[in-house]
Amino acid sequence: MAARTKLLYQTNGNLRQHLTKILSLTPVSSLPPSDQSLIKEVTPNDHALITTSTIFYVQGGGQPTDTGVISTSTAKFEVSSVIDGAKRDLHSRLHTAGHILGLAINHLSREDKLPKLVESKASHYPGSAAVEFVGNIPGSALAAIQEKVDEFVASKRAVEIHFWPMERLRRECEGVDEGFALPEGEELGRVVEMVGLGSYPCGGTHVGDCGETGRIEVRKISRSKGVSRSLSKARPLICLLKSIVYNVSRKQNTYIYTEYFG
Ligand SMILES: [Zn+2]
Repeated sequence: MAARTKLLYQTNGNLRQHLTKILSLTPVSSLPPSDQSLIKEVTPNDHALITTSTIFYVQGGGQPTDTGVISTSTAKFEVSSVIDGAKRDLHSRLHTAGHILGLAINHLSREDKLPKLVESKASHYPGSAAVEFVGNIPGSALAAIQEKVDEFVASKRAVEIHFWPMERLRRECEGVDEGFALPEGEELGRVVEMVGLGSYPCGGTHVGDCGETGRIEVRKISRSKGVSRSLSKARPLICLLKSIVYNVSRKQNTYIYTEYFG
């Protein structure tokens, strides 16, 4: 089996251009059906390109995929990648802001200013960024959460990337439940640490310090009884909440919607 494409953004989120090698270029229609199913509306012009390394973020963990241009410069199949830097920067700020918000809520919970909560999911998509907790956060807590978020942003604490063994990851990271597992064959998990504030296992891209997110506005806290944990997409969240309010689960989830800077 060919080696996995090296994901350069995992160790250097600032790369905006990169030279790599093309290993293969094939029409999407010739890929196995399971791979084709990952792509929406395949046309005859769509091709799958495999490179030895990439700076393009793959969609996942609540962060949208990067978009950009790959252009060949010589007949040696060396490739120069140019990604959409402004878009990526926004995604990195949103993504980091989601972590800061999650940490602020966890800190308040530990300080007994919020009830005991279990962190569930997050989405960092522009316009629908949200973090989700299982537990009851009263609407009146919004001001306290905003204050803690402001404090963390003002702290400008460094945001660092680590690769930790599972034991340390479980001990020190937030949001790691019993079902958490590393990808098959991997012994170290990628972690993002907001130094001094807390860490999460994460494969996404982030800004260099907590101040680079700009102001994070905590916009809304919404609650619903009986929300399934399978809710992974924030975009249709409000509709889904309304439609399954009377589900059998007794859990009460709290969703916090955030809007970031201007
Ligand atoms: Zn992250």
